[in-house]
Amino acid sequence: MSNDRQSTLSIQKSLMPLPTADRSALLANPGFGRAFSDHMVTIRYTEGRGWHDGKVEARGMLPLDPSTMVLHYAQEIFEGMKAYPQPDGGAALFRPEANARRFQKSATRLAMAPLPEELFLESVHALVLEDRDWIPQAEGSALYLRPFMIATEAALGVRPANEYLYCVFASPAGNYFKGGAAGVTLWVSENYIRAAPGGTGDAKCGGNYAASLAAQAEATREGCDQVVFLDAVERKWVEELGGMNIFFVFEDGSIQTPPLTGTILPGITRDSLIVLARDMGLTVREEQYGIDQWKADAASGRLTEAFACGTAAVVTPIGKVKGKGFEAAIGSGDAGPVTTRLKSALLDIQNGRAEDKHGWMKRVF
Ligand SMILES: *Cc1c(COP(=O)(O)O)cnc(C)c1O
Repeated sequence: MSNDRQSTLSIQKSLMPLPTADRSALLANPGFGRAFSDHMVTIRYTEGRGWHDGKVEARGMLPLDPSTMVLHYAQEIFEGMKAYPQPDGGAALFRPEANARRFQKSATRLAMAPLPEELFLESVHALVLEDRDWIPQAEGSALYLRPFMIATEAALGVRPANEYLYCVFASPAGNYFKGGAAGVTLWVSENYIRAAPGGTGDAKCGGNYAASLAAQAEATREGCDQVVFLDAVERKWVEELGGMNIFFVFEDGSIQTPPLTGTILPGITRDSLIVLARDMGLTVREEQYGIDQWKADAASGRLTEAFACGTAAVVTPIGKVKGKGFEAAIGSGDAGPVTTRLKSALLDIQNGRAEDKHGWMKRVF
């Protein structure tokens, strides 16, 4: 993206930006998802008229009629991406076209109007530029962007809406997990599944998350951090976590992740780590992995590391897996050498410390 491209978004600056001292205090310890920047982008869609009324404006409330269709039939999709601070004081997005494409696919699956890729890219670019003072500079921090779309037509009746609102807002982000780099414990859910063939598992929609919360609550009751879901048909194959993909590392140095068969969210972090692992000369398999095999491999020591990955949590080591009547430790319980190496390789590219061989970084300023 070049800065000289003519914007189709009108800019209406906030009249009440947060005072500098308050912003600095938030940026010093942002946590995740608690603090928000001054602006947002909104673009409206109306059947027959198309996308219109795009603007960068002060972050504020979205007034909704009680009959607004998203509130009843859950046509809602979202994305998650980050603007990373660069060594020269600028900022860059990581593979934003991949988010733009996935957003279109999610829209199509939910029978919503797909937002043109160009408009998606322009919106995130414009917001990062407008709120550039909100990018945290500390190691491991970034400005998290949350593009989303909802059905805004005010009417009852089960059918695709004919009006949508696209919006993107920003939140300075530090560590996703309070514990930092220590391994998380996963709970294997027997009572719940996340996605079924033909369902919405490979679309990034809020409904998938709503459906995962009872399982997450079960995991918490069992003293675990996150749920790991098995497939809906055989209840045997490992799929992913509620909001992160999963990788396994073996004794022989090879790594494995479940294949994208339609019930797993195609993570951009997942895809990038596969590329980076192959760049390092590691063997990567996209193959199914059974829960019984996982237990056996953890016990025998064939499985040496496991980690979860996603934009928000980056790369998170998995220390332990628990289920009804079993508990298995993985490796040392902390980040193993392969996990650490992959995480560093990714962060080095994102933070502009390593050569961007694959052209993943898109400069905003
Ligand atoms: C967003 C998400 C991921 C991770 O995707 P990234 O593009 O790597 O951030 C994985 N699983 C689910 C269910 C998700 O919603």
